[in-house]
Amino acid sequence: TIKSQIFTECENALVGDIVFLVDSSGSIGSKNFELVKTFLGNVIKPFDIGPKKIQFGLAQYSTETRKEFLLKDFADQESVLTKVQQLHYLQKNTRTGEALDFIRKDYFVEAAGSRVGELVPQIAVLITDGESSDSVETPAQQLRDHGVLVFCVGVGKDAQKQLKTIANPPQDHYITECSKVINDVRTCCLLSSSACAETRGADIFFLLDVSGRIGQLDLRDMQNFIISFLRFLPIGPDHVRMGVVTYSHSPSLRSGLMEDADEIKEAVLALQREGGAAYVGKALAFLNQGMGETAERQVPRFLVVISGGEATDDFKGPAEALRRKDITLLAIGAKKSNETQLTEISGDSRQTFYVNHFDALESISEGVLAEICAPEGEFGSCILARNQNLMFGVRGLTLP
Ligand SMILES: [Mg+2]
Repeated sequence: TIKSQIFTECENALVGDIVFLVDSSGSIGSKNFELVKTFLGNVIKPFDIGPKKIQFGLAQYSTETRKEFLLKDFADQESVLTKVQQLHYLQKNTRTGEALDFIRKDYFVEAAGSRVGELVPQIAVLITDGESSDSVETPAQQLRDHGVLVFCVGVGKDAQKQLKTIANPPQDHYITECSKVINDVRTCCLLSSSACAETRGADIFFLLDVSGRIGQLDLRDMQNFIISFLRFLPIGPDHVRMGVVTYSHSPSLRSGLMEDADEIKEAVLALQREGGAAYVGKALAFLNQGMGETAERQVPRFLVVISGGEATDDFKGPAEALRRKDITLLAIGAKKSNETQLTEISGDSRQTFYVNHFDALESISEGVLAEICAPEGEFGSCILARNQNLMFGVRGLTLP
């Protein structure tokens, strides 16, 4: 089977400051509050805690915000888990905006143990049913501007609708189960590790299947997948540039290499399905002609091929020609894709990824990013703390 491999030098270097902000208001209900405690335990358990590793802080709020523990308070997992289990439900009002201000001022500061000065990723995980009695927009914005990546976990069945008013589009995509939070938080911490600390740059082309076998939801998942990279990679003329090509019966260059994150996002969201056949070989041959021009920049070049099924034309020659130009190919397949073919495209099983459905693309983004960031430690100020402008804002997730 094909699975993503994370470079070991990154694997042992998870570092991050993670603050949970827990809605403890009356609308949550005591039953859900207990579920939240279980959820917190599950998020915390996979991480190594310590002053050189992951630090957790936690505040809960209702009418007022209550300091439970700061980032600097605990250096072992047992103490954190015990404290979480002892959380006492507050009930009363829901002043989420005030609580967001509170953690910005009292948690994400060096006096409270924040390692922001050492470029450690600053992460907040807000857990709420979404119904705030004060305004959240400005406090959320200010928290993000402070360099904090804000995740948002919804509690209760009405949370999705409410969260959408907090979250930026296309956040509805991110309403999902809690295991994704662990994965996302882990990705943030992973990519800040020292192995990925040197910034150079990269040129990345995405080649997307938009043929008849791709549904509207598949397209949306692919779009979100590409956009998710913008959160982790520094985009700019001296850093990462991205371009997009689509293919069906014939390939189309949708956007040449772009140097602006907003521009990339816009171009990706404008992509449409074309239907018809899917000739990936033809598309690779097209790129082979077009990608020579990017060689003027002395940076690693990547081509990420995303396909929704088997290749039906000859692709081996064109794929090999691209690899001979020192372009690293990553092949991602979904649905009825053929794993052998995918590896024949990428040339290396480590650069091959398979998902059953496109909605699982997110689960492989960590592996794909590791391939882009980690080879020989060449690239990757994937450091979130350094790239505050890349943080697209609040992401919404919902507890099951
Ligand atoms: Mg409430």
